[in-house]
Amino acid sequence: LSTPDFRALFDAVPGPILVLLPDDPTFTIVAANHAYAQATLTRPEDIVGRGMFEVFPDNPDDPRSAGTRNLHASLRRVLATKTSDTMALQKHDIRRPESEGGGFEERHWSPVNTPVFGENGEIAHIIHRVENVTEFVRLTQKEAEQGRLTEELRVRAGRMEAEVFLRSRELDRAKHIMQQLQESEERFTAAFAEAPIGMVLTTPDGVILEINQAYMDMLGRSRAELAMHDSSHFTHPDDIGPTRAFFEKLRDGQCSTATIEKRYIRGNGDLLWARASTTMRRDSTGRPTQLIAIIEDITERKRAEDDLRRSNAELMRANRDLEEFAYVASHDLQEPLRMVNIYTQLLLRRHIDPADSVAREHAEFIRGGVERMEQLIRDLLAFSRAVQAGDPFSAAWDSVADLNASCAAALTVLKDRIEESGAQVVAGPLPAVRGETTQLAHVFQNLLSNALKYRRESVAPRVIIDAECRDGAFVVAVRDNGIGFDRQYAEGIFKLFKRLHRDEYPGTGLGLAICQRIVERYQGRIWAESEPGVGSTFFISLRPAGNRAHAVAEDR
Ligand code: ADP
Repeated sequence: LSTPDFRALFDAVPGPILVLLPDDPTFTIVAANHAYAQATLTRPEDIVGRGMFEVFPDNPDDPRSAGTRNLHASLRRVLATKTSDTMALQKHDIRRPESEGGGFEERHWSPVNTPVFGENGEIAHIIHRVENVTEFVRLTQKEAEQGRLTEELRVRAGRMEAEVFLRSRELDRAKHIMQQLQESEERFTAAFAEAPIGMVLTTPDGVILEINQAYMDMLGRSRAELAMHDSSHFTHPDDIGPTRAFFEKLRDGQCSTATIEKRYIRGNGDLLWARASTTMRRDSTGRPTQLIAIIEDITERKRAEDDLRRSNAELMRANRDLEEFAYVASHDLQEPLRMVNIYTQLLLRRHIDPADSVAREHAEFIRGGVERMEQLIRDLLAFSRAVQAGDPFSAAWDSVADLNASCAAALTVLKDRIEESGAQVVAGPLPAVRGETTQLAHVFQNLLSNALKYRRESVAPRVIIDAECRDGAFVVAVRDNGIGFDRQYAEGIFKLFKRLHRDEYPGTGLGLAICQRIVERYQGRIWAESEPGVGSTFFISLRPAGNRAHAVAEDR
């Protein structure tokens, strides 16, 4: 039997084999078979005699590669344990020859390291046998990849299915909302069409988009007729300009909602007074999009207002006539009265026997009547002077009244009566107000005269006059301790000829009316409070003397 050619056999073994020296850490390659060279793209002559890790370093482009580290560890285990070491699947890329482009090629190995002992029992070599499992790993990876793809597709299909389901539900919901919208639109359209008030929808330029029945009825015109023209066609000529200005204001955005009162010409030629409340709708950029107008028929109200303005003008004219009459009559009446007075005195002195008591009594009646008549005429004259409207913005109206002076003047006139009645009059300091000193002296005179006249029989009259500032105005109070009156008459007593104690006390019923006219001339107010048997207080509120511009602005 001839000895086989071990070298040839070694080379012919189909599995890749490498023989290493146990010279840790170099592990010099001492032999590499053909299969090994093929699997590692090397030539045996290039690698034999060189260190294992020098020839097969880690792939620097694969940061996770641990091939050399694992192999080194396995070889060391062989040295230590002196037994075979089967390594787990390794990724240990190999260098591609420069002729084939250089770089590294992916390789997966299943290596087994087996010790070979020398005669002394020591490890002489290590056989490094590997299985190139790159294809297998790739296949496995591919299968895994395919599995992943299939799974992903399944998940995606599932997701799509879910999405289709959701979409269909959304579609259902949208359909429902659409239906609701349609119903609500129908409701609004019906409300618009049947509203008992005129409604119009136009473009911002006034082109009619929609009108309702009430609007057509109001104008007495058909839909076609109204849609054919813009609204100025049906507007009273005097109101066309103001209406245009009104719409421009709305369009310019000076206001979003506004109201105008204007006249329309109805289909039968009649005039219709209407109040149009309009709202300009705008998009998110502020551009006007639509105009909504609500039209109310206010013809009746306007007619009533006109009538009222006319019942007022006539009343004022009648008042003026009455005042003129009062003035003229009081003047003209004075003359014949004086004659009656003089001749009654003459009769009394010369022609009536002083012993004829009846005749004297009759003559006294005449004299009393004449006196009352004179008083009435004097009061009427005072009244017509007080109501002589004049120009409220005249210089006189601008004047300042010193109420202390007004009050003092009244006290002087009434000096005798005060003394006669034993009255006590206390007047506190009074302010300067808008008004005239002499006119306001009349007011004090009338109020003081009443306080003395309407006194309680057994109680000495006591009158207190004072003033306080209330809400920017001066309020003067004239308080007495007289007979008083029921509060229900507190307003009535200021009316012309209104008297509560007609028979018991002399008077004309004009005094308080005169006071009221004077006070009101200066934008003041007069009112009374009273308690029967306790006393009365008359209040006058007057404005502080101030500048005229301020007063004019307020009054307007
Ligand atoms: P007259 O000439 O009757 O006094 P006035 O206009 O001054 O007219 O007053 C109207 C009425 O108001 C009086 O008739 C009287 O009944 C009542 N009156 C006015 N002042 C007082 C007062 N100080 N106390 C009680 N009653 C008064």
